[in-house]
Amino acid sequence: MLFKITVLGDGGVGKTALTVQFTMSSFVEVGQRLGDMARSDQADGDTQTYDPTIEDCYRKQWVMAEMGLDQAPRLELTRAEEYTALRDQWIRDGEGFLVVYSITSRSTFERVERIVERVIRVKDDVSSPTYSSDPYGRSPQSPTTPGGPGARRRAPIVIVGNKRDLYNAREVSTEEARVLAMRLGCDFYETSAKANTNVEAAFKSIVRQIKGT
Ligand code: GDP
Ligand code: MG
Repeated sequence: MLFKITVLGDGGVGKTALTVQFTMSSFVEVGQRLGDMARSDQADGDTQTYDPTIEDCYRKQWVMAEMGLDQAPRLELTRAEEYTALRDQWIRDGEGFLVVYSITSRSTFERVERIVERVIRVKDDVSSPTYSSDPYGRSPQSPTTPGGPGARRRAPIVIVGNKRDLYNAREVSTEEARVLAMRLGCDFYETSAKANTNVEAAFKSIVRQIKGT
């Protein structure tokens, strides 16, 4: 099973750090995959390389078994600084999305809603050509859309407030982020890539939602 997860968010919020933290404990071919990511993320100046230990491999297998996976999720990194055609292609290819901001940067939080709306719009363009021509501007992918004939599930999006360890520099409260996430119909986690807090939980939430369980 292949899960295509796209990590979005402003530069410097910790997209690479989160992905590295998660893949360190969840990917079998960490070295190779991180090499691929470093290439696709070069504009950020990332140069990290990692050499996974046997211990990492054991933990990976445990996590994957627990998630009912027979193959590691594939992650794709992208940057959300620009609304480029390439970014839209990454969104089209993604099955699940982590939209990341930093709790220490209000401006990165203020980008979250636009990014989520962009994901919904780009994904919707593919699966529902009638959406943009609806004269009433209704979204059939509203998170509150009830089940039934014709009902579709929206691509899962998890909002992530990273750098939770830097609480002394906090600019975005947990509560306001939770309110936004609820309004947008997204799961929400505050994480620390540095302290490895909630990183696995955020990725697991995405995979669980993609699997539909
Ligand atoms: P990206 O541009 O979104 O990929 O951000 P990076 O992953 O490159 O992280 C940007 C900077 O923030 C780097 O210096 C990271 O070490 C740092 N960083 C990322 N996540 C955290 C975190 O959870 N806590 C702290 N204290 N620093 C972090
Ligand atoms: Mg990066």
